[in-house]
Amino acid sequence: MTLIADPLEFAQRGERLQGSVELKALSRLADELVDREGSVKFEVFGVVVGDDHFLEVSIEAQPRVQCQRCLQSLALDLALQVRFLLVPPGEVIPDDELEEDSFDAIAAERNLDVLALIEDELLLALPISPRHEVCDTPQPRERDDSASPFAALASLRGAGKKS
Ligand SMILES: [Zn+2]
Repeated sequence: MTLIADPLEFAQRGERLQGSVELKALSRLADELVDREGSVKFEVFGVVVGDDHFLEVSIEAQPRVQCQRCLQSLALDLALQVRFLLVPPGEVIPDDELEEDSFDAIAAERNLDVLALIEDELLLALPISPRHEVCDTPQPRERDDSASPFAALASLRGAGKKS
């Protein structure tokens, strides 16, 4: 786990946290992938704008999901930038409707679990129905040469030449 002991102080000081985590360590995310190889790079830094404290989070990952057309592995190239408003203890987290689109509001609780935040964002970023732009695996039907009429014809011709 990667925790920020005091997120408000982290923002106040303009602190920065960099790291990486194995995909297999993010079990909710890994369940959605075709394999668990690879890692996620992340960077978190704190910033104060007016009276508001924010965490700016950058995430880079290349998780592999299953193409819904050819069922083969499809590597995503995710680069996310997310801004979280830290809501101090005792203050009300704004309703979704009132929230600005440019950031998500989260409770500025002690020992904030950064990896859980990152995992949530990656889950949201996964396409619902991922597909290759162009699937390069031919359909099994086209691949089976022995069953095609052309293959049958070719073998007849071959037999003719021999005799
Ligand atoms: Zn495909």
